[in-house]
Amino acid sequence: MKKITSLIMIMMSCVVLSACQTTSDEAIKVSDQFFAMDTYITYTIYTTASQTESAKALMSEANSEFERIADLANRFESFEGLVNVSTINEQAGITPVVVDPMLIEMVLLAKEVAAQSNGAFSVVLGPVSEIWQQYQDSDLVGIPNQAELDELRPLLDLDNLIVDTQASTLYLTEPGMVLDLGAIAKGYATEYVAKWLADTGIEHAIINAGGNVKTIGGHPTNGAFRIGLQDPNDLGGIFGSVAIQSTSVVTSGDYQRYFEYDGVRYHHLIDPATLQPARLYRSVTIVTPNSTLADALSTALFVLPLEAGQALIETYYPGTAVIWYSADGTVTTNVAMDEIFTLGGE
Ligand code: ADP
Ligand code: MG
Repeated sequence: MKKITSLIMIMMSCVVLSACQTTSDEAIKVSDQFFAMDTYITYTIYTTASQTESAKALMSEANSEFERIADLANRFESFEGLVNVSTINEQAGITPVVVDPMLIEMVLLAKEVAAQSNGAFSVVLGPVSEIWQQYQDSDLVGIPNQAELDELRPLLDLDNLIVDTQASTLYLTEPGMVLDLGAIAKGYATEYVAKWLADTGIEHAIINAGGNVKTIGGHPTNGAFRIGLQDPNDLGGIFGSVAIQSTSVVTSGDYQRYFEYDGVRYHHLIDPATLQPARLYRSVTIVTPNSTLADALSTALFVLPLEAGQALIETYYPGTAVIWYSADGTVTTNVAMDEIFTLGGE
């Protein structure tokens, strides 16, 4: 483990994208941006001038796939003819629901990471997140009462989310339970569309879904993409960068979705032990090829104490690179991260 203490207060998350050097004469960069899952999705494909139009068409088609997954994972809205997370929530305590295998896949991985993190990662915190959200939306003023949050605990048992892979069903056994795939669905969608684009023959591309970055191959001439990591204390700046190819980098941070009350920041990453926003870090960044896993791990490690997070990675995901940006500005990296991370701005 290498520990670097920065002199200035530094902040977090993946945001700035830049290629290491200039492109070759043949390779040109084509980009497009869409909005889904409450965030901007930017596609950048390196191609040749003659292929610009087809690259644009591919990005648009790929994003339709992203939107399809966004609709499946949506817990706020139902759509005519589509069984999605809101359907599962409506049927809580009533009946198992036959769902798209993609939702089964997300839930199985979510349960695995929940077990590995001793419950720090939980996709059934919905009833608690909904209360915090009401304060963030200013529908309620102040902060939730702890007793009111604790009363919800009977609805937060992940064992009461039943998966039947044979029947392809999901079932929340208690009325009032709420499935929330917000910590994993964006990674899943990013992973899916990256595979989809690669299958069409794309060899050099970056997909950036609001802090979930996936690269197909590397830069056409330089071999690596340099991905800037957002400074949690200066949202226009970066605190460091990672040089990556054919992998994904995902950051969970406290600086994008939050409200302040009495000078304290209350953000959207909840520690299931306290039902309060997790307080140890400003951000946690994961680099590992599978973007779904990177998404789940970045949330799980945001909640876990440093030693527990380090142990989780060493036990189950050796080789996965991690940066913990702590609440006091200390930046901690593991050995795998040291090979690809550069501290400091551009
Ligand atoms: P973002 O969506 O901002 O990129 P994350 O991937 O970390 O960030 O997911 C945050 C979302 O996950 C929250 O908005 C909430 O819906 C859900 N969530 C909050 N706390 C947890 C937790 N401890 N485990 C799993 N999901 C969580
Ligand atoms: Mg996540």
